[in-house]
Amino acid sequence: MGARILIVEDEARLARFLELELVHEGYAVDKAADGRAGLDMALTGEYALVLLDVMLPGLNGLEVLRRLRAGGRAHLPVILLTARDSVMDKVSGLDMGANDYITKPFSIEEVLARIRAALRSGGPGPASAVLRWGELCLDPARHTALYGSAPLTLTYKEFLLLQTLLENRDIVQTRDMLLEKVWGYDYAGETNVVDVYIRYLRQKIDSVFGVKLIHTVRGMGYVIKGEGP
Ligand code: CA
Repeated sequence: MGARILIVEDEARLARFLELELVHEGYAVDKAADGRAGLDMALTGEYALVLLDVMLPGLNGLEVLRRLRAGGRAHLPVILLTARDSVMDKVSGLDMGANDYITKPFSIEEVLARIRAALRSGGPGPASAVLRWGELCLDPARHTALYGSAPLTLTYKEFLLLQTLLENRDIVQTRDMLLEKVWGYDYAGETNVVDVYIRYLRQKIDSVFGVKLIHTVRGMGYVIKGEGP
């Protein structure tokens, strides 16, 4: 049997249509018709991927996504379905850790292609070991970050960016490499998003704790060096 996919969608006809098409493609499918049921199923079930509508009764899709990322499903691939071609949905959805989004109305071919891509890339990969740099401690499995004993509040993308730099320490990461690893292969937004997020990290870590964590390598990209102070 193929991968098990959870569809969280309150429009019954659309949910049924997606279910039939996915089953036809060989996937196993479960459905939830509201945000709260969808969240419970995603947290307790073993799904390969979630198709998550944004406009849902109960909890909306973005809140479901936020709770999934905070609640032990940090690496579960999630594709958002959004009725509005809203930049806000797209930006906040991706920043909260959606792997991809699809704007309604969509073709089933587009949905299937994006599901295949998300399953291939498998999100940020299996949970890795705790990463340390000086007083900084990043735990990808628990999605927690500490500096000394102070918890850091990082968004999903900030966390992934920092994780990627720490996993590749002493190896300069170009903007393109970081875009691909953190934002995904087909990211179509602003290319300076990497610089913007590096700035966020520096504001939250370097500025607060008086360290030089992320170095800019002019004309190349960014790197974290050594084991820290
Ligand atoms: Ca809806």
